[in-house]
Amino acid sequence: MNIYDLIVVGGGPAGTFAAGFAALQGQRVLLLEKNRRCGAKVLITGKGRCNITHAEYEPRRFVEPFGKDGRALLTALYAFGVEQTVDFFEQRGLKLVTERGGRIFPAQGDAVSVQRILQRFLAEAGVEVQTLCQVKKIHQAGGRIDSVVTSRGNFNAANYVVATGGLSYPETGCTGDGYQWARQTGHQLVTPKPTLVPLILDLDWTAQASHFNLKNVRIRATQNGKTLCERFGEACFTRQGIGGPIILDMSARVRDALATGKVTLVLDLKPAVDAAVFDRRLQRELAAQQNRNFANALDGLLPKALIPIFIELSKIDPHKKCHSVTRKERQQLLDLFKPLELPVAGVDGFNKAIVTSGGVSLHDIDMRTMRSKKVENLFFAGEMIDLDGPTGGYNLQLCWSTGYLAGTSAVSP
Ligand SMILES: Cc1cc2nc3c(=O)[nH]c(=O)nc-3n(C[C@H](O)[C@H](O)[C@H](O)COP(=O)(O)OP(=O)(O)OC[C@H]3O[C@@H](n4cnc5c(N)ncnc54)[C@H](O)[C@@H]3O)c2cc1C
Repeated sequence: MNIYDLIVVGGGPAGTFAAGFAALQGQRVLLLEKNRRCGAKVLITGKGRCNITHAEYEPRRFVEPFGKDGRALLTALYAFGVEQTVDFFEQRGLKLVTERGGRIFPAQGDAVSVQRILQRFLAEAGVEVQTLCQVKKIHQAGGRIDSVVTSRGNFNAANYVVATGGLSYPETGCTGDGYQWARQTGHQLVTPKPTLVPLILDLDWTAQASHFNLKNVRIRATQNGKTLCERFGEACFTRQGIGGPIILDMSARVRDALATGKVTLVLDLKPAVDAAVFDRRLQRELAAQQNRNFANALDGLLPKALIPIFIELSKIDPHKKCHSVTRKERQQLLDLFKPLELPVAGVDGFNKAIVTSGGVSLHDIDMRTMRSKKVENLFFAGEMIDLDGPTGGYNLQLCWSTGYLAGTSAVSP
């Protein structure tokens, strides 16, 4: 006889919701997590602030940014959507705030408060949690899972939810174990790829400019002169290239295009000002500083860290007096602002990717319950399924919704 009604593998957002909501139905639930604590990845979300969800309360509109497969999420969202997520955290004392672009964060507090609430939820719901317990194998017999083999012995249950996440940021415990078990138990796996990931540029100066944000910039990704995608917002140079929200959101498109040829990013640092107006502003700056060195003319136009880089790229002698900068030189400078071309050398790897795209194929999951179509008593939830959204709280909402649905379906009569 099974001791447990449900075993959940993985104590991230999806596994926590699956276990907690199943236990609230009066079921005996065991959650197995290989780290010392549940929710290691939650702590690093939203730069430590945790962008819990996205302020789009209408499920049909919420799923649009997930692309053509987004509709598969609808049942989960109708069962537990953005409104329920907001209520869940607010009822547990965490006031939330909606920031620019619909991103919902804790108003005070941070990702640590979110992790604490998740841990308290597990305790209050009566989930038995075993941490430092690595599941090594899932044992299948007669079309059902009959036990899990772990570093702390074997456990069995009537039903199982696997929510072991993807492959991104492996130091948080996500090493793709669930993908292997899914494959071994007959599920198709859509090749996992790093997504929402910084881009590596074919430039040697990005490290010098890596400590400040580029705000309100426009970036266009191009291939053979054609626009692949375009975003307006925030980015930042990194040691090897460029990252930040708008780059992350373009990264999957750029990654796929790189397979067929070169990609160049076109950065417009002053998208609100057209080239002619910007040229007049540049002329005014040069005139106002006419007897000073050219380098000083850029103070009002660029963040400090970018000035030496622009001077070098413009090939204008920094000691030249502003009044002797020629029209041609001014044009060279203008070309850097509008636009600056950044050749892409590649995309960063799983260790820098916010999410993993690909995973257990939607064809093998009944998305109305999250139940496997191959193994009767097995359910999947969270990042390990073949769905991923853009930045802005979409990916955590996917976990809250699919975790809730998997847990409650797994224990429903
Ligand atoms: C830097 C960063 C910032 C992010 N910021 C945001 C954000 O602000 N908003 C947002 O919506 N999304 C964000 N994300 C994405 C989001 O964190 C993930 O999509 C989400 O955590 C996935 O949840 P999950 O429960 O599916 O898996 P995970 O959170 O990855 O949890 C899986 C758990 O399973 C455990 N596990 C794995 N294998 C085993 C095993 N064999 N035995 C036992 N346990 C195992 C792991 O230790 C882990 O604790 C961010 C991601 C990163 C990396």
